[in-house]
Amino acid sequence: MNKIYVIDVTNRDGVQTSRLGLAKLEKTMINIFLNEMGIFQSELGFPYTHHEMNYINANLELAEIGLINPMRLEGWCPVILKEVENSFRFTKMKHINLSISTSEQMTKGKFQGRKTRKDVLNMMVEAVEKAKELGADTIGVNAEDASRTDDEYLVRFARAAKEHGAVMFRYCDTLGYDDPFTIYQRVKLLAEEVQIPIELHCHNDLGMAVACSVAGAKGAIDGGVDAYINTALNGMGERAGNADLVSVILAIKKSSGFHQGKYVLDERVDLSKAWKIAKYAGYAFGVPIPINQVGVGENAFAHESGIHADGALKDRRNYELYDFEELGRGEPEIVESGRKITVGEYGGIKGFRNVYDKLEIEFKNDEEATKILELARYANVHTQKPLTNDELKFIAKYPEQAKKIMTVAPLVPPEG
Ligand SMILES: [Zn+2]
Repeated sequence: MNKIYVIDVTNRDGVQTSRLGLAKLEKTMINIFLNEMGIFQSELGFPYTHHEMNYINANLELAEIGLINPMRLEGWCPVILKEVENSFRFTKMKHINLSISTSEQMTKGKFQGRKTRKDVLNMMVEAVEKAKELGADTIGVNAEDASRTDDEYLVRFARAAKEHGAVMFRYCDTLGYDDPFTIYQRVKLLAEEVQIPIELHCHNDLGMAVACSVAGAKGAIDGGVDAYINTALNGMGERAGNADLVSVILAIKKSSGFHQGKYVLDERVDLSKAWKIAKYAGYAFGVPIPINQVGVGENAFAHESGIHADGALKDRRNYELYDFEELGRGEPEIVESGRKITVGEYGGIKGFRNVYDKLEIEFKNDEEATKILELARYANVHTQKPLTNDELKFIAKYPEQAKKIMTVAPLVPPEG
């Protein structure tokens, strides 16, 4: 039975957002939380980019020792042979997505007549062959601007990708140009013609990213293949953003045409982690969750007007489509309202011990405590905001990987 899986791209597309970004430690925490949430795969970054390499290798180590498991970690790379080589030379990445634009607009507009669409197809095939040769376990091929690419070319492109060993095809609605009806038709056609699992990568320029993602997934299933929806936490991403993770999960689990029967979400997805992960992403990006955000906004379960409040109190189902408890909401949260000691880049051992005592983490001796303090300081150099309890616990428990994640040294080769 074909299913719908989630591939979160916060750590790749989300961090491409203009004026916003994440520290490597924050990207790591997001991978840990996504894994806890049962997400199928995280596109964790750019394995050919120098400053990402230590972070990527450390996260692959965390996968090996079981902290980030079973979620798959995959890197994004353009269809450029040198970058494919660098990805495999400097990182232990095993899963890769190779990306190139397929529309006439972008082929002409970007290559300025230096490449034809036939060249684009050949470049993609060469990159797939190169990744295979360098030991990739799985290769996905991304058609950037697929929604503005004609069917005939897109089918040819996807077919060539499959023939050369790609196991997934990413349909990118790069400019948010599709609507739910067009994407359904086009993805269904691709699925029927090529029979390759399809990723839906939708942007929100027309406010339809979530709707297009689920409609596209329906098209893939109806065409006889698995669907993989690309999401981003809190809908972060370039311009108007990507499809929001929590909204996509809710749409598949709760909307009238999805919640029963044929269109089934990967059962490992645990919606009860939604509140925690959305709040963390808001903090890490420095972008508060909008009050009316789907599922996790302050007002998502708030009622004020007479008829609504009365109705919700009599029977929550009158005005609530799903329960806040399902998203992990409703637990009391302790907020320190008096003295607070935080851990920062200029902190000292006394304050640091106080913070870790509260988390009930003990150190063997002063030497160990000093080492962890130094790492916590560096973590704050990267994040530039007070470290969260989960970040502090991670650093204390996985100091070797934490050290690697925070090692960002210009013009120094990455560690093995
Ligand atoms: Zn994108």
